[in-house]
Amino acid sequence: MKITRLILSLLVASLAFAQNHSVEMPVSASGGAAQKETPSRASLPKKPAAFDPLALHRSAIVIDSHADTTQRMLDENYDLDTPDPTINVNLPKAKAGNLGAEFFSIWVEPKYKGQYVRRAMDLIDAVYQQAGRHPDQMVMAFSAEDIVKARRGPHKRLAALMGIEGGHTIEDDLRVLRDFYRLGVRYMTLTWYNSNDWADSSEDLDNKDVPHHNGITDFGVQVIREMNRLGMMVDISHVSDKTFYRTLVVSRAPVIASHSASRALSQHPRNMTDDMLRALARNDGICMVNFFSAFVDDDFRKTFEAHRDEAKQAVAQAQEEYRKTHHGQIPPYTVEEHVTEEYARKLPRPPLKSLIDNIDHIAQVAGWQHVGLGSDFDGVSGMLPEGINSAADLPKITVELAKRGYTAEQIKGILGENFLRVFRKVEAVSRELQKEKPLGAEPLGAGENR
Ligand SMILES: [Zn+2]
Repeated sequence: MKITRLILSLLVASLAFAQNHSVEMPVSASGGAAQKETPSRASLPKKPAAFDPLALHRSAIVIDSHADTTQRMLDENYDLDTPDPTINVNLPKAKAGNLGAEFFSIWVEPKYKGQYVRRAMDLIDAVYQQAGRHPDQMVMAFSAEDIVKARRGPHKRLAALMGIEGGHTIEDDLRVLRDFYRLGVRYMTLTWYNSNDWADSSEDLDNKDVPHHNGITDFGVQVIREMNRLGMMVDISHVSDKTFYRTLVVSRAPVIASHSASRALSQHPRNMTDDMLRALARNDGICMVNFFSAFVDDDFRKTFEAHRDEAKQAVAQAQEEYRKTHHGQIPPYTVEEHVTEEYARKLPRPPLKSLIDNIDHIAQVAGWQHVGLGSDFDGVSGMLPEGINSAADLPKITVELAKRGYTAEQIKGILGENFLRVFRKVEAVSRELQKEKPLGAEPLGAGENR
């Protein structure tokens, strides 16, 4: 999530929400039977949990599938081992919250048009630089097994992974997609807030100046198939409902929503409807719950919307100032973020309950095996529910889930095991597909870009 685009998108929220989303249903996969085990509110035990939630949290593999800390590492040269009250994810906070794996977002804002790949390469380098500086605390990871290995032994290290946010980043070229995989990128959101040349976003459907594709184009189908072959997770956060349903039909592997919440609880078009959540469960995929206050709490969303024009103007002004004082350079995201933080401080934070309600709702609709955590830390200008100020506060989620009657197994699933299952399945599908078409057997020259 990035705030300026959210502000714009709120303008179209009601319109996009009204759009009919039942386009195509995916072929049923596993996951249906598992839903029977989902706890329902009526059946929750009244007695306290038979385990110590904090001990459980410390022993679990905790995975967060989306943080935008990467911008600060690159644009402000932020070092992950430096204490900073304004940052959500750093090494001391990860340690305090037993965060085991973080997917650092390789988010390329559309304003970098003409330099998408370059910007992505710089962000990727920033992640590697941090792992290089802190080898005793952090390690680059490229597979589900790498995450497990990083957490073994007395010196648990943070597994650092990368996901591209926004399919425009590959510049319509499968060769670039493969190169990103080789550099370690393990998921890609098909779109960000912007529709691209081959997939529609949920955010600009009413913009007549933007060409749309009724979901995805033939090239978009090729991108998804190539991601399946590579073993790069297909991420449907941010996409339009039609793109979502088409993706489920096309993808041979389970898909992820790396940072999305429930539309039944907050009516943002970027959140997932119950129907989408059920379809995701049939695909054996997973919804990693976004912590952003406007996505988890509808009251906050409305309050934020009321401030949008004011905030938008202030951001535009700050960006203009930056350009003037930096010889016309593109203002980094941090300029916008610092202004938005000012506005965020004026708004009352939603209770932690709103976040837990989202996890609980998705667990009940899709099955607990299809829920995880995708915080969007360092991408929401501090707009997080009460009590969640950083990765150090992750144990509070475990405590709350235990209070609601979730079992140790279910909580471990939500904290990370569910995601590991999906990641492993994506890897297995990739191995199968590479038997049919090995990597390196691509036709030379034509046919790889659109
Ligand atoms: Zn996002």
